[in-house]
Amino acid sequence: RVVLGIESSCDETGVALSRVHPGGEIELLSDVVASSMEEHARFGGVVPEIASRAHLEALVPTVRRALDEAGIERPDAVAATIGPGLAGALLVGVAGAKGYAAAWGVPFYAINHLVGHVAVAQFDGGALPPAVALLVSGGHTQLLHVPSLADPLRELGSTVDDAAGEAYDKVARLLGLGYPGGPVVDKAARGGNSAAIAFPRGMTGPRDAPFDFSFSGLKTSVARYLERAEAAGETVALADVAASFQEAVADVLTSKAVRACADTGAERLLIGGGVAANSRLRELAAERCEAAGIELRIPRPRLCTDNGAMVVAVAGSMIAAGRMPSTLGAATDPGLHVSQSLL
Ligand code: ATP
Ligand code: MG
Ligand code: FE
Repeated sequence: RVVLGIESSCDETGVALSRVHPGGEIELLSDVVASSMEEHARFGGVVPEIASRAHLEALVPTVRRALDEAGIERPDAVAATIGPGLAGALLVGVAGAKGYAAAWGVPFYAINHLVGHVAVAQFDGGALPPAVALLVSGGHTQLLHVPSLADPLRELGSTVDDAAGEAYDKVARLLGLGYPGGPVVDKAARGGNSAAIAFPRGMTGPRDAPFDFSFSGLKTSVARYLERAEAAGETVALADVAASFQEAVADVLTSKAVRACADTGAERLLIGGGVAANSRLRELAAERCEAAGIELRIPRPRLCTDNGAMVVAVAGSMIAAGRMPSTLGAATDPGLHVSQSLL
């Protein structure tokens, strides 16, 4: 059984196909992403109307390419992200998916984008639970307990203000590095001294919730540092600021994630979402998991940011488990919560 999945929650039009083998193994057949990122760059962030229009233009050709690359003419099921995300952007992908499902006469599966960010790790290493998942993206930063495939993801903690990806995007703007912030800050930090500036580690005090995060103070601290340097007429070592900021983010994320594994008894840590592509986070997570005897699973960077593989990862598990499809009446939900199961 082959399923086609469409992701359109933000500025990426992602289409992927996967095959569900009789034993339940899910094989990724193709994964094509068309991004409208460049169209948003001059505005310094995603413009919802531009994203919707870009999805509309990219959807059919991207589906065509994904089918061609997989060598499939007609899949046995269609799936799409129904939330969370931008309302108009989600509508384009979901309406398109329902149209394909109706035209091909195959079932439709509605998929949670956040569950997809976690589930996609199965394409890079197999079985997922029991585990703790760290979800770090542009709009979310959460620690989740994943006891089994069928249990709902349980939130252990989340950010009380900015998401980690949002902090990257804001700091990139402060540093004049453009949009999107993650990849440019990651690059700017190369060769920088990560111990040059002691930026604050939010929510790490003895009275703070152990699994909550805060990144807005860190962003403000970077802003103050730059202001002070400018007022004093000092030249700012961009690489040092970027590396020190990146270290602060990676330090808090990995220390809390490892502690969550210890607390829940999980022997495996999954990291997903756009920020999981970050080179320092990957490095530090590997170091700390190794020291703690935890198996670390981070998908290859291209599967961390938004893509269609996330959608067919979840849809494939649902099909393998014999879950009922959604109706064509299933509505998009821009504010959908993560608390569902992996299938
Ligand atoms: P959500 O998944 O919460 O709905 P989203 O889909 O917009 O939000 P993703 O596409 O998963 O988010 O991730 C995008 C975010 O990841 C952006 O904030 C971007 O700056 C960040 N990001 C991408 N690559 C890197 C990197 N190498 N280092 C740090 N952050 C990165
Ligand atoms: Mg994106
Ligand atoms: Fe995302």
